[in-house]
Amino acid sequence: MAQRPFIVGNWKMHGTRAMLSEARAIDRAAQRLMQVEIALAPPFTLIHPVRREAEQIGVGAQDCHPADGGAFTGDISAAMVADAGAGFVILGHSERRETHGEKDKLIAEKGKAALDAGLKLILCCGENQEKRDSGKATDHVLRQIKASLPADIEDPVERLTIAYEPIWAIGSGKAASVEDIVEMHTAIRAFLVKTFGEEDGAGIRIIYGGSVNAENAAEIIAGDEVGGALVGGASLSAESFMNIVLAVQ
Ligand code: PGA
Repeated sequence: MAQRPFIVGNWKMHGTRAMLSEARAIDRAAQRLMQVEIALAPPFTLIHPVRREAEQIGVGAQDCHPADGGAFTGDISAAMVADAGAGFVILGHSERRETHGEKDKLIAEKGKAALDAGLKLILCCGENQEKRDSGKATDHVLRQIKASLPADIEDPVERLTIAYEPIWAIGSGKAASVEDIVEMHTAIRAFLVKTFGEEDGAGIRIIYGGSVNAENAAEIIAGDEVGGALVGGASLSAESFMNIVLAVQ
């Protein structure tokens, strides 16, 4: 399974048009670093402008609504983000689970809407500190994935990526240890093989997120079953983001 590392920048609620120069610089640099698959998930308002700047990198959204359209003031459908130029959507991020009360069932519905709209999925999972301390992290994460996966994913290797993001590692400056990441990714891999069969289950990418930076990225990505990284804070400048890409290429 010699896939290119997949490095995704999650800009969260950061970025106005002034940030387009960063996206442009990332895209330019990406054209010389084809050994790594690079993508950005800017806020909704920048999907279209970033898509217009980008020739090489993937562009995605950070969320979508499960309905096709209708009376949902302030919401954005999967078809809308696809129309704006997104090729994928990040779903189930712990910040949405926490601040918007998103439950697994809703995330599965969003996932189905996204697949129907032709988008790929990055499905996030991860435990909090309490679950980790009580030794229940793996059970929790596998249960979360099982409940938030949409049914009947066609071509899951192409269309699904799992992002393991322990909540305590996000934005804390304290990434999980490579040992803990590999242990969790190995458990996720076994679950994927059980769910999707040998071939597809072995091919679906599992990436890690939580305080990834240029210093720790190479070691993390060299870990067994680690197919890339979902990067928050360090993706906000082209320089720090591309230093991660350079470290893992
Ligand atoms: P971080 O965020 O890299 O700032 O820890 C990762 C994420 O939440 O996707």
